[in-house]
Amino acid sequence: MKDLPDRRLLLVHAHPDDESINNGATMARYAAEGAHVTLVTCTLGEEGEVIPPALARLTADRDDALGPHRVGELAAAMRELGVSDHRFLGGAGRYRDSGMMGAEQNGRPGSFWSTPVDDAAAHLVEVIREVRPQVLVTYDPDGGYGHPDHIQAHRVAMRAAELAADPAYGSDAPHAVAKIYWNRVERRVVEAAFDRLRTTAPDAFPGIAAVDDVPGVTDGERITAEIDGSAYAGVKAAAMRAHATQIAVEEPYFALSNDLGQPLLTTEYYELVRGERGVAAPVRESDLFAGLTGAGEDAA
Ligand SMILES: [Zn+2]
Repeated sequence: MKDLPDRRLLLVHAHPDDESINNGATMARYAAEGAHVTLVTCTLGEEGEVIPPALARLTADRDDALGPHRVGELAAAMRELGVSDHRFLGGAGRYRDSGMMGAEQNGRPGSFWSTPVDDAAAHLVEVIREVRPQVLVTYDPDGGYGHPDHIQAHRVAMRAAELAADPAYGSDAPHAVAKIYWNRVERRVVEAAFDRLRTTAPDAFPGIAAVDDVPGVTDGERITAEIDGSAYAGVKAAAMRAHATQIAVEEPYFALSNDLGQPLLTTEYYELVRGERGVAAPVRESDLFAGLTGAGEDAA
């Protein structure tokens, strides 16, 4: 892959749609700036619910055809974001959606949650050593909100980064990811956005979600990087809309299948957990590549 651009960003997500909700503006920005953006999605999201009544038969308890449908939704979303390198961990359908925590699907053979971390990480090590990203983005140890596939995506991403850097692991040339970030949402910001939703669009959806329903909500002190994606707000909304079985979009808000409205945030927040900050605290980075020699803003 010697022809890849200087700046390379890898994102690891559990299901199709998580990337657009969490990082859509960031992905669109870096793709537009000429960075190489790679998305690895760990499952097809086969156990998800379906919003449009006309597609209700796709669910796992009926035709069990949601996975292949979501492959198409993800491809459409990536076209909106301008991201051409998107892959499924181990190939499409290798690991199945594990359902919500406590569901019997958690322990089903082939479920992502029941897969040993090192087995799944081996596939991601291949991607890391091929693409050689400087920056990796994934969830926090709770997966943002406790979904087993999100927790497992976190574990697999962190483990793969460790193994990819180990010269004793496998035969491909090792690669150390310089910076690892976890997805965050700033509590103060999302609270203000919920206040706007309640006052300006209280009837946009049948109900309104709670702040703590938003994955990755934390106080501002933990946030080290803030990507202003306002120039990509429309693109992010279009990518989310492409996941039509999962997301109903009413800009600047959206709802998942629970019909509870929440803000569609176009500033995206991150916590650096490995590597050096590109700017001294308490200033937040405005570029995930900040401080990286040969890969920062100057090299773009
Ligand atoms: Zn998910």
